[in-house]
Amino acid sequence: MIDAVIPPRSGTAFRLEKGQVLTVTDVEGVQVADLLAYNADDVREVVSSGRTLDYAETIQLTTGHVLYSNRSNRMLTIVEDTVGRHDFLLTPCSEATFRHFYPDQPVHRGCFGNLAEALAPFDVEPDMIPCAFNIFMNVPVAADGRICVEPPLSKAGDRIRLRAEMNLVIGLTACSAYASNGGRFKPIGYAINDS
Ligand SMILES: [Zn+2]
Repeated sequence: MIDAVIPPRSGTAFRLEKGQVLTVTDVEGVQVADLLAYNADDVREVVSSGRTLDYAETIQLTTGHVLYSNRSNRMLTIVEDTVGRHDFLLTPCSEATFRHFYPDQPVHRGCFGNLAEALAPFDVEPDMIPCAFNIFMNVPVAADGRICVEPPLSKAGDRIRLRAEMNLVIGLTACSAYASNGGRFKPIGYAINDS
């Protein structure tokens, strides 16, 4: 169920029509994919972490949960999830986060830069990039509220499938940050099916 592969530390953008199902596959395992969704008819409407977590009443999103927009409309429904651990708290990695967390490593534009370039043809500007739904990202929350970024629990072939509830523009990456991906950068596979 893989039509295309996103090379390590890169990203892409494409349309996903209402009713179509997007499958995102961790090809080798232990790899995060940042996902953004915009209303294809008005890209000022965008997926919202705050709205989604509010309506879901949990931060552990999995099969059956809906990703909502900033206008409280349904954008995507998770119809299958073989991992059950994703993050919707943190923003895409960027040049600034590389400087903050990895001062001794080369700076990379990260998911933010990759998404900005891929989404530019759809009239999405960098300031229109919000908190992404971070597929396979493992950010446990401790009892005292502290969070940390652990390696993903996903293994080779694990996948999540999301059905579009409106016509969408999707941004999708193979994440570039060290901690998020267990210190090694792998590709992400995806496919689009009509149901
Ligand atoms: Zn990233």
